Amino acid sequence: MPYHCVAYGCGKTVEDGVTLFKFPKDPDEFRKWEKQVQRTRVKWAATHFSHLCSDHFGKEYFEGKLPSGALKYISCFIVFYYIYYIL
Ligand SMILES: [Zn+2]
Repeated sequence: MPYHCVAYGCGKTVEDGVTLFKFPKDPDEFRKWEKQVQRTRVKWAATHFSHLCSDHFGKEYFEGKLPSGALKYISCFIVFYYIYYIL
């Protein structure tokens, strides 16, 4: 089973041409990501196998070249938050 994006209504995998990002190891960052997803999936709980796809992050927020996967976490939350409010 390939990993898929946990965002509500998304569920994309690498086969859809996105990059999947594993939830951060840092507990505070992990909770932040989980909370973002819970805005639309109230009873959902993240696991260490949860991933979000690159559709939820602006390209300008990636550090260096893809697919290094290094994100500026603070900035990417702003984007993620914004995406959910405009939908
Ligand atoms: Zn997604």
